[in-house]
Amino acid sequence: MSDSKKSLTLLSDLGEFGLIDRLTSDLPVYHKSTIKGVGDDAAVLDYGDKYLVMTTDMLMEGIHFNLVYTPLKHLGYKAAVVNFSDIFAMNARPRQLVISIAVSGKFSVEAMDEFYAGLRLACDQYHVDLVGGDTSTSLTGMAISITVLGEVSKDKVTYRSTAKENDLICVTGDLGAAFIGLQVLEREKNIFEGARGPQPKLEDYNYVLQRQIKPEARKEIIEFFETNNIVPNAMIDISDGLSSELLHICKQSDTGCTVYQHKIPIDEQTVKIAEEFNFEPTVVALTGGEDYELLFTLPLNYYDIVLAREDISIIGHITHKSEGCNLVTEDNTQVPLVAQGWNAYKQ
Ligand SMILES: [Mg+2]
Repeated sequence: MSDSKKSLTLLSDLGEFGLIDRLTSDLPVYHKSTIKGVGDDAAVLDYGDKYLVMTTDMLMEGIHFNLVYTPLKHLGYKAAVVNFSDIFAMNARPRQLVISIAVSGKFSVEAMDEFYAGLRLACDQYHVDLVGGDTSTSLTGMAISITVLGEVSKDKVTYRSTAKENDLICVTGDLGAAFIGLQVLEREKNIFEGARGPQPKLEDYNYVLQRQIKPEARKEIIEFFETNNIVPNAMIDISDGLSSELLHICKQSDTGCTVYQHKIPIDEQTVKIAEEFNFEPTVVALTGGEDYELLFTLPLNYYDIVLAREDISIIGHITHKSEGCNLVTEDNTQVPLVAQGWNAYKQ
C-alpha cells in the first residue's frame, strides 16, 4: 500500500496543461465530422456548410470565484462571457448556451434569480440563446459548468497551430487589469465581509475592478475581421496571461516569437495600482490572467489596417523555432518567455 502510494503523482506537480495532455493523448476519432478535438480554444465539428465550434468551462466556488465580493449577477454574466471568448478565439460567433449548476441548500431563490439575470444579460448582449441546462445540489459550494456552441465559415476558422514565421503578433485591449482587480478585492475582502474599519475607496479602482468582475469578450474584433476580410493565421484568447498564450501558439505552430516590453498594452490605472502592490506591471501583463483579450497573428501586409485601430497593439512577430520565444525588455535585453500562467492545481 505504502509503496504504491509513493509512486503516485500529485495533480499539482503535473499542472493543468500537463494533465490535459496526459488524459487526452491519442484519443481516437471515429467521425469525419470531428475536424479538431482537444487542443484549442474550442472543438471544431463539421455539420454542413459551416463549422460548429464547441467549448466548455467550469467555475468552482473558492477556486475561481469568491461569493464574498462577487455579486451573483456579475458571476452569471462572467461565466457566460468567458465561454464566448473561447468561441471568438476560433474566429467564430457564439450561438447557443447550456448550463449546469450546483448550489447548496443555503441558497435563496432570489440569489438564483440574480445569477440568472446576469447570465441572461450576457446572452442578450452577445445574442446567444440559452437552450438548456441542469441543476443539482452541492455540499461543498457552488459549481457552474457552461457549454457554448458557435459557428464559423469553414474558410475562416482560426486555430492556435497555424502561425507563420514573420507574422505580426497582435493583442487587443490592455492586459493585467483583471489580475490587479482581483488583488484589490482580496485586500479589501474583510470590508466586504462586514468587518469594521475604513471603507475602501473603490472608485479609484473602478477600471481594474470592472475588468475582474464584469469582463467582456472581444466580439467587435471578430466583426472587424469580417468587415475587412481578414482571417488571422492563428488566434487564442488570453485567459492565463500573455506569456502562457504566446507559448501555446508557438508550441503548436512550431515557431518562435519575439515580443517587445514597451509594446505590451497596459492601462495607466493598472500600472499605478500594480506599483501600489509592488508588482512589476509587465510581469502582471505577462502572467496575470482573466484578461479575455484576443492574441492573434497576421501576415505583414495587414500592418497598416491593424495599426489604425486603437484597440489593437502590435507587440512583436513570429520567428523561426530555433530563435525561441523571447521578450525584448526596455533596456534592450532579450529574455526567454516562461509560462507562469494559471495552474489550476496550485493554490
Ligand atoms: Mg481559451
